[in-house]
Amino acid sequence: MLNEDVLVVGGGVAGMQAAIDIAASGRDVVLVDKDKNLGGHVKDYGALFPDLTQGATLVKQKIQIIKDNPKITLMLGTEINKLQHTNNTIKANFISTGNPKEQNFTAVVIATGFDNFDGKKYGEYGYGRYPGVITGIDFEHQEETILNTPIKTAVFIKCVGSRDRSKGMPYCSKICCMYTAKQAAELKKAQPNAQVYIFYMDIRSNFKNGEEFVRGVMENQHIKYIRGRVGKVIPTNNRLLIRAEDTLMGVPLELEADLVVLATAMVPSKSTQSLVTQVGGKLDANGFILPIPMAESENPMSLTKGVFYAGACGFPCDVKEALNQGSAAAAGVLGYLQSNRGAAK
Ligand SMILES: Cc1cc2nc3c(=O)[nH]c(=O)nc-3n(C[C@H](O)[C@H](O)[C@H](O)COP(=O)(O)OP(=O)(O)OC[C@H]3O[C@@H](n4cnc5c(N)ncnc54)[C@H](O)[C@@H]3O)c2cc1C
Ligand code: SF4
Repeated sequence: MLNEDVLVVGGGVAGMQAAIDIAASGRDVVLVDKDKNLGGHVKDYGALFPDLTQGATLVKQKIQIIKDNPKITLMLGTEINKLQHTNNTIKANFISTGNPKEQNFTAVVIATGFDNFDGKKYGEYGYGRYPGVITGIDFEHQEETILNTPIKTAVFIKCVGSRDRSKGMPYCSKICCMYTAKQAAELKKAQPNAQVYIFYMDIRSNFKNGEEFVRGVMENQHIKYIRGRVGKVIPTNNRLLIRAEDTLMGVPLELEADLVVLATAMVPSKSTQSLVTQVGGKLDANGFILPIPMAESENPMSLTKGVFYAGACGFPCDVKEALNQGSAAAAGVLGYLQSNRGAAK
């Protein structure tokens, strides 16, 4: 008899979508997340660019579909710390309090997401030392409080830990121009009198309607984009003094703010790195998943025999792309099970 159970590691939006699509075709799926709730990073977000759907609403909708499908077994508060290929099966080690376990699967989807770059590495901005200096992720977590606390001036600093070979990561994190514009706009909508500045190197909004989204924020919400680099944030008179340079005008700048938001890089999660190498997959120079060359794989999310991936474990991506990749990985799994079954006959 064929054991055709599928394991999905990570219950963020990518993993949830993969599990939903695989189970919809009648296959048994085990969906595992080390967190005690589903939804990954998105469950804690407010409005999502581009259409301002609430993150929590999207996650709740996916959770309902998962709960309604008996083909999906949910294991929360459980971490997969080891995957091992043996012949046509992949053995997984599960760790949850007091209950270590092993199980064999025919196919696996790795959807282990991303970690947030440590803002403390940029000591000059005072993250972790000065109240009022937060990261973009902190903004999402504290959005309600932030929007309801009177703010005279807010400063957003982009590319913190991205595009920086000396202290950070060399790559562009791809989505922080978009989420910074979204966060600045949400703040301005809640507090129209607040002065909101965004310091940038470039504006990269290569999404459908992304350019229009950012331009709308600049023009309709009167948010001031300054091309330049912030050199230092200094606590002064219970506020934060920003020392910067406007590189377009070639002039130094100083302004006082109540809130500084660092758009920190999205970095590969440690879990991704260990699981991928254990199954014989490859990582790129930055630690994200290295896809198989297009001409050599039947499915774009294919990693090794019977193993697929989806979402931000591959590279920083937005929610739509994570969902699409979840569906693509599910299609890869179903194709693989089909060909496996044919070969076993
Ligand atoms: C500040 C910020 C704001 C953003 N705003 C937007 C926005 O407005 N619109 C938008 O489209 N995108 C936005 N994004 C991008 C969005 O966060 C990602 O697209 C999305 O989180 C990717 O989902 P994922 O499932 O790939 O990963 P994650 O959300 O990281 O989920 C991965 C899951 O895997 C679990 N996991 C990891 N390792 C293991 C393991 N070994 N065993 C079990 N479970 C494991 C984790 O606990 C987690 O639940 C934003 C990103 C940031 C940083
Ligand atoms: S997406 Fe924008 S903010 Fe993020 S690293 Fe790239 S250029 Fe910088």
